[in-house]
Amino acid sequence: MSDAPELPKEEEEEREEELTPEPEDQSDDSSGEEAAGNTEMDFLRNLFSSTLGLGSADKVLDELTLDGVAQYIKSGKCKNILCMVGAGISTSAGIPDFRSPETGLYANMQKYNLPYPEAIFQIDYFKKHPEPFFALAKELYPGQFKPTICHYFMKLLKDKGHLRRCYTQNIDTLERVAGLEGDDLIEAHGTFFTSHCVSFCCRQEYNLDWMRDKIFSEDIPRCDKCSSLVKPDIVFFGESLPVRFFTSMKMDFPRCDLLIIMGTSLQVQPFAGLVGRVSKGCPRLLINMEKAGQADPLFGLLGFGGGMDFDSEKAYRDVAHISTCDDGCLALAELLGWKVELEELVKQEHARIDGQEKEKEKVGESKGAAAEVSAAAPVAPEPKKEE
Ligand SMILES: [Zn+2]
Repeated sequence: MSDAPELPKEEEEEREEELTPEPEDQSDDSSGEEAAGNTEMDFLRNLFSSTLGLGSADKVLDELTLDGVAQYIKSGKCKNILCMVGAGISTSAGIPDFRSPETGLYANMQKYNLPYPEAIFQIDYFKKHPEPFFALAKELYPGQFKPTICHYFMKLLKDKGHLRRCYTQNIDTLERVAGLEGDDLIEAHGTFFTSHCVSFCCRQEYNLDWMRDKIFSEDIPRCDKCSSLVKPDIVFFGESLPVRFFTSMKMDFPRCDLLIIMGTSLQVQPFAGLVGRVSKGCPRLLINMEKAGQADPLFGLLGFGGGMDFDSEKAYRDVAHISTCDDGCLALAELLGWKVELEELVKQEHARIDGQEKEKEKVGESKGAAAEVSAAAPVAPEPKKEE
């Protein structure tokens, strides 16, 4: 994991200044003056490139289509692909979007007696009243963790040496189930994969199985060592994003050859702002049910650039493929000549996961804990075994 090639630090910083001045960045820049200088330069650059059409000099794709992207990937010039993904890549796996108001989540929360609905995800409230969060976690717990075609497409990108990293907003751990490892991933909003004791003196780590057992037995998870509360490592309101998000972003985006954005409407900051951190020449492909991330004309003018431009006459690098993430990945895989391989991978892996679930069920039954397991898998396709 430590063998990923990294440029020496100095070169890194140099490249970054050159390529990714980022006016919105408040979190990690110690030099305010320098940042202001960059903002000004960036503003001028944007102004010149938009008024004089200089941007077109950077054109990398032959055409702004999925096929254009596929040709670029096949050209051999596209070594560092970054993926940015959101809830849309997991909907076909039956994972509810934990925080989206569209799930009707907030409308359905009277029963938890919250002072206001968002309190359920607020860290201060959680520390005093963890019950509502864990009750909701039980209610929304996915029946099974089976990654989608889109997840396996990213695994294929990794296997073929193209994937530099995947930045995910999702907390469902499906990227890991699909075979991406810790170093391949930035889980920007945290993950259910691990949990920690909230006591600063202790911070004992617990795994997903431990947490799931607690959630389903309706025990409020308490640390075995110190009895403090144990919380899944998802980012609550009032908590900062993982440090790795900020450190990796500085390394990854300046050297990105292709940014693939899938299943996110690019509305949550600071995640959404990442699209503006790649170099001006870096092509960006959006696979989503609707266009997203387009620059607000007003903000564009003010130099807070970096928004997507799919349609204007100056568009030169952004491609929108409007479809489900699975369909978009299949279409791209077909253009790359990877479709059979991708379908085979999905089939194999899903069969393996089904096998594991059956195994778990058997173990559960022999322990006399079948009820618990079936509660954990409400949509499992397997019929109950005959006694
Ligand atoms: Zn503890």
